[in-house]
Amino acid sequence: MAKTEMTYDKPLPAMTGLAGEFYAFCAKSELRFQRCSACQAWRHVPRELCPECGSGDWSWERSSGHGRVFAWTVATRAIHAGFEREIPYAAVVVEMDEGVRVLSQVADCPPDELTMDMPVEVTFEAVTPEVTLPKFRRKLCEPYGP
Ligand SMILES: [Zn+2]
Repeated sequence: MAKTEMTYDKPLPAMTGLAGEFYAFCAKSELRFQRCSACQAWRHVPRELCPECGSGDWSWERSSGHGRVFAWTVATRAIHAGFEREIPYAAVVVEMDEGVRVLSQVADCPPDELTMDMPVEVTFEAVTPEVTLPKFRRKLCEPYGP
């Protein structure tokens, strides 16, 4: 019997601990980062202590979902068989309006159309029934700066 659905064959994040909490919000289409209760600094990737002040008090705060392309690299060889049909693709670091940086992809943008500071917004891709990944797409309505 022929398979009708493509199975997701790329590596998946561990759905445990703080990372598991981060991805559980993504599954609800919420991008949330930790924010220090003592000094208000945002942080990502998830960790127990604030890298700014050392406090262990924090909460999950909702991100605006808006950011800008900070850096990227174009993969021309797949480091994992699951990526072979996508090469060349860009691994993109997005700097969110909150200041934290997220490694992801700009899903609707070929690598040769990426530009520094390109405005992007988060979108969510449910890659398995359990795992939803934050991806980004171009924000087309915002005028580019001077
Ligand atoms: Zn702090």
